[in-house]
Amino acid sequence: MADKLMIYSVKKGAPIEVEKIAKSDEEWRRQLTAEEFRIARRKGTEPPFTGRYHAFKGKGVFTCVCCGTDLFSSRDKFDSGTGWPSFTSPVSELNIIYGEDMELGYPRVEVRCARCGAHLGHVFDDGPPPTGKRYCINSGALRFVPMG
Ligand SMILES: [Zn+2]
Repeated sequence: MADKLMIYSVKKGAPIEVEKIAKSDEEWRRQLTAEEFRIARRKGTEPPFTGRYHAFKGKGVFTCVCCGTDLFSSRDKFDSGTGWPSFTSPVSELNIIYGEDMELGYPRVEVRCARCGAHLGHVFDDGPPPTGKRYCINSGALRFVPMG
């Protein structure tokens, strides 16, 4: 029996119950490109201005490249000038988990997918209104789904 959790579904407009997803590295490697695996499963970072979504303007939802969980909406996307897709908030706090990352020698807040644990990026306190947050996310951890 897999662990269950509640995540928010943009399509349903409501929280839904889903099973947590745990796969072996072998399974993830089969499903992802080498770059997606390096980012999402190995806490990698894509070089700025190289990802598929930093300058992308489509309307819809950015889902987890690993498990399809809805993560960010185009409504909350803004141009941060950093070369990474940037958002003022996730679609729901249910869909994200946070962790402390000391990899650069100072604390940063890591952002991960709540359902499968994929590394997405980091969140900083220098974003624009309404939240003042800047979710700095790797394109390689996201898959865009157009909506409406
Ligand atoms: Zn996921």
